[in-house]
Amino acid sequence: MAGIEPQPGIMEIALYVGGKSTVDGVSNVIKLSSNENPWGPPPMAQKAVRRVVHEMHRYPSTDHAELRAAIAEVNGLDAARIVCGVGSDEVLQFLAQAYAGPGDEVIYTEHGFAMYKILAHAVGATPIEVAETERVVSVDNILAACTERTKLVFIANPNNPTGTMIGLAEIERLAMNLPPQAILVLDGAYAEYVEGYDGGARLVDSRDNVVMTRTFSKLYGLGGMRVGWGYAPQAIIDVLNRVRQPFNLSNIALKAAEAAVRDTAFVQKSREENSRLRAWLAEALAEHGVPSDASTANFVLARFGSADEAAACDAYLQSQGIIVRRVSGYGLPAALRITVGDEASCRRVAHCIGLFKAGAR
Ligand SMILES: *Cc1c(COP(=O)(O)O)cnc(C)c1O
Repeated sequence: MAGIEPQPGIMEIALYVGGKSTVDGVSNVIKLSSNENPWGPPPMAQKAVRRVVHEMHRYPSTDHAELRAAIAEVNGLDAARIVCGVGSDEVLQFLAQAYAGPGDEVIYTEHGFAMYKILAHAVGATPIEVAETERVVSVDNILAACTERTKLVFIANPNNPTGTMIGLAEIERLAMNLPPQAILVLDGAYAEYVEGYDGGARLVDSRDNVVMTRTFSKLYGLGGMRVGWGYAPQAIIDVLNRVRQPFNLSNIALKAAEAAVRDTAFVQKSREENSRLRAWLAEALAEHGVPSDASTANFVLARFGSADEAAACDAYLQSQGIIVRRVSGYGLPAALRITVGDEASCRRVAHCIGLFKAGAR
């Protein structure tokens, strides 16, 4: 009997579960589960938002010209080849919608970001998960998985939740050897945390098959505003702008992001404090017998002896009002992802993990 059915693939999607933000019975939780900036939103963005409240009755810009100009200026890019989205998640969605469908394959890696699989299913394409090498993306494995049906290859560099990254030479080798119908998407959600790394922007400039995505949600401290952007060859930008809704970003989001991108003092402080505290946290955890890979992002992937131990530690931390992220859904059941918070939060989470490891739970 005919009935109402969604498009193929939709029911394959496992609903996204975000980082927790509350613990029953605990006020003043320390939230280290969503890789948010511990310094809050940039002061200049807060000021810009207060100013724009008087414009809420107006429709926003459809071409995002001012925000694109600001991003281009600060990052040394061509503003015409930037597209802005409701978080970089929306830019990733434009790519899936425009370039993949039933019968096509979308590649991502073993511990890759959850959205890649969701987006592949959402457009009816076939998700192809490729093994990593000790929690690091393997270009050889990706190339071996490519077929004439491969349309998109998603890698986050640095990756979430592993915190590891691969070098530009490896990325270029991947781009050069992809089949002709495939696009390499470099998800640079954490690119700003890496000193001297352009997220792959120069590679986008020099090739026709590479797209970079970036976000205001992490280092720029605007996760709640939902603004991200993509940088791509003109031919791809012209395609993405056709599936983008004309009013996808609000006045408030546009102004906040524009101010944030120009708040260089905030950016510098966020990057420096993150590097310092990330190193401190990783070392403190190692001293308690909890190793992690060298992270290039704003979190540390803490590895425990077993899934049971990770679960027990997570429960203990919650009882102490600390929320971190379990990453079983990313194929890492024995690990916990811990956002690098401010100094007090880093000290507190390291102290509690030390107590847990010492058996004092
Ligand atoms: C957080 C994150 C994003 C993006 O988030 P938006 O808030 O949608 O910009 C994208 N990719 C990775 C790997 C992330 O961790």
